[in-house]
Amino acid sequence: PSSKLPDIGTSIFTVMSALANAHKAINLSQGFPDFNCPAPLIELVHAYMLQGFNQYAPMAGVPKLRENISLKTEKLYGYLPDADTEVTVTSGATEALNAAITAVVKTGDEVLLLEPCYDSYAPVIRLCGGVPVYVPLALPDFSVDWDLVKRRISTRTRLILINTPHNPTGAVMTKQDMDMLANLLEGTDTLVISDEVYEHMVFDGQQHYSALQHPQLRKRSIVISSFGKTYHTTGWKIGYAVAPAPLTAELRKMHQFITFSTPTPLQMALADFLEEEAHYLQLPDFYQAKRDFFLEQMKGSRFELIPSAGTYFQLAKYNNISDEYDLDFAKRMTKETGVAAIPVSAFYHDKTDHKYLRFCFAKGEETLQAAAEKLVRL
Ligand code: PMP
Ligand code: GLN
Repeated sequence: PSSKLPDIGTSIFTVMSALANAHKAINLSQGFPDFNCPAPLIELVHAYMLQGFNQYAPMAGVPKLRENISLKTEKLYGYLPDADTEVTVTSGATEALNAAITAVVKTGDEVLLLEPCYDSYAPVIRLCGGVPVYVPLALPDFSVDWDLVKRRISTRTRLILINTPHNPTGAVMTKQDMDMLANLLEGTDTLVISDEVYEHMVFDGQQHYSALQHPQLRKRSIVISSFGKTYHTTGWKIGYAVAPAPLTAELRKMHQFITFSTPTPLQMALADFLEEEAHYLQLPDFYQAKRDFFLEQMKGSRFELIPSAGTYFQLAKYNNISDEYDLDFAKRMTKETGVAAIPVSAFYHDKTDHKYLRFCFAKGEETLQAAAEKLVRL
């Protein structure tokens, strides 16, 4: 049969994790914590399962979870979305992204993507008949060149997809960035998907600026987050989308035929757990300490590391060590050095190689120390 995505292979995260496992390498490639989620959260899931919360959840999500997402949004971003009409619980941010893109992109629509970008965006756009239009982020700090964005906007631009804090670079958008975006889109009917799955991981006293905080932007935005990142539960696959009611209605039409609904006991437990803001409020310090520990351990290495501003990823430039293509270097490092990382070319449609690897520092100190010991010898 002819393929609908002939150029798409297995995701780089699967490839590198499998290679790490095959060579018993320390896996700093695919982004996931190597420590457990909070024990009380597991106990809540267990309790809800025993109480019989094991059947379909409401299609849009358990009401209490949607209400608590709304309340959290108001507390953090000064905007209270309507839990009934503007909040949808999905099976991970991946499903939210799929439902959001599928809900709005029609054949021939252009969608602006800022590269490097996460791997799930473009394939879904293409499956909808949309045309990804790529705008490179500006080196060396991977900031947005809004003039360039402006030049790539056309009458066919249906959507622009942004991601802050940014995977893989750790760059964080400022209020000024959001103002620029809002001004560019003024008077158009272009929509925004804002992927904010790392919203609670911003460092050095900076604040995450959500599209939901911006009165103009939130009217045209679908904002997506993920409990996998916030609660160290990437395997639970629960995320959500916040969008104005008419957009939410369209997104839910997709959601109801992708998964219909998301596991009930996990939603019930997260609904309770979300009331304890202490967990997410300590995440910046928690992850900044890990970033700084890794940077400290990497002192003296020939990798060039500029401290990540957000996410649990750290870029490292390796051109002092090798001039190999980043995928080749990453594979050889996994096999010979025993540490796996993600080659950043995987986040460019044309596999542009700027000689960066992405390391995930959502790991225990022993793991980070053992990895750094190997990497400083390169
Ligand atoms: N967007 C970005 C930028 C991500 O890094 C990830 C997770 N790696 C996702 C979306 C998907 O999140 P989830 O695991 O909740 O589907
Ligand atoms: N988001 C994770 C990362 O960037 C990977 C998720 C996946 O494996 N699909 O590493």
